[in-house]
Amino acid sequence: MHGRMLIDDFAGNDYLGLASDPRLVQATAEGARRYGAGACASQLVSGYLEVHQELEARLAALVGRPRALLFSSGYLANLGVLQVLCDRSTAVFQDRLNHASLLDGARLAGARTRRFHHGDLDDLAHLLARCPSDTPRLVVSDGVFSMDGDVADIAGLSEVCRRHDAWLMVDDAHGLGVLGEHGDGCAGRRHGCDQVPVLVGTLGKALGTGGAFVAGSELLIEHLIQFARPYIYTTAEPPGVSAATLGALDILEQEPERRARLKAHIARFRAQAKAIGLPLLPSSTPIQPVLLGDSTRVQRWAARLRAQGVLVGAIRAPTVPRGQARLRITLSAVHREEQIDRLLDALASLKAREERP
Ligand SMILES: *Cc1c(COP(=O)(O)O)cnc(C)c1O
Repeated sequence: MHGRMLIDDFAGNDYLGLASDPRLVQATAEGARRYGAGACASQLVSGYLEVHQELEARLAALVGRPRALLFSSGYLANLGVLQVLCDRSTAVFQDRLNHASLLDGARLAGARTRRFHHGDLDDLAHLLARCPSDTPRLVVSDGVFSMDGDVADIAGLSEVCRRHDAWLMVDDAHGLGVLGEHGDGCAGRRHGCDQVPVLVGTLGKALGTGGAFVAGSELLIEHLIQFARPYIYTTAEPPGVSAATLGALDILEQEPERRARLKAHIARFRAQAKAIGLPLLPSSTPIQPVLLGDSTRVQRWAARLRAQGVLVGAIRAPTVPRGQARLRITLSAVHREEQIDRLLDALASLKAREERP
């Protein structure tokens, strides 16, 4: 628990600083005034409001897909998609570092899951080649890996999928809003439905609000509406949240300087962290992990930073493999340069303190 305003927050996923933007707070209130505080029913009954419809159209346009479908959260979107696309006869291939919701979704669908080495297209191709030819197959990858910050090779994945007759699903929770010329993520307009037929985006990260969507063909979306239980049996998103997300999409369009500023912050952080000699991972996104290895060391560093008013993620097993515990530092467009410098100073003194005999 923390007061948010009193602390330098380098732990959240509010990459563009939209969560606290007064315009979005205002849009939330206006959405609630107009439609009510809650949607009062599932989408298929009477919970599907104009604001939801408008948001779906805007999201589809953002990522360059024919349709998009709103879910209450990214976790539910992934469960829904995997439940609809897979059953016991499906072979699912997942990157080793995929998000827990993707692994859970395949497991709940009863599909047989094989995990390929992180980012290793040869390993994926090898596993696909061994799969019996009549088995339906789905390849699943994060767009930006949430604990490492690296970006999947979307063109490479789609090419392997094309060669081996597999469907490709990309969960771009951390890429949406941040990557791509329009903030359309790593698998947005540059890669259409033919390359990435199933695209998931979440709205609680760079867009600063909440909820998620699946984007794809008319047929995929109609199928989800008919059969995805995590879509059907849950109350529609509160309309104020959808109204705020529409506001976030406006800002994304009108203020590309936020992405530019974020990029400059990433470069600043990486250059100085390298000069200090911190063990960074090769990430070009706002997720900048410092790999400390040992989980007690991670907790000690995070606690000392916290005592200085700096909040970072202390990520340990089972979220990451044992022995790869890390500080998960995330940057935001609304950080001030002094805040980043203060974080780096604090990290430098922690490192120096451990190196003293
Ligand atoms: C955060 C995250 C989710 C879950 O999204 P929520 O809207 O928070 O439920 C799914 N996939 C990935 C890769 C994520 O990072």
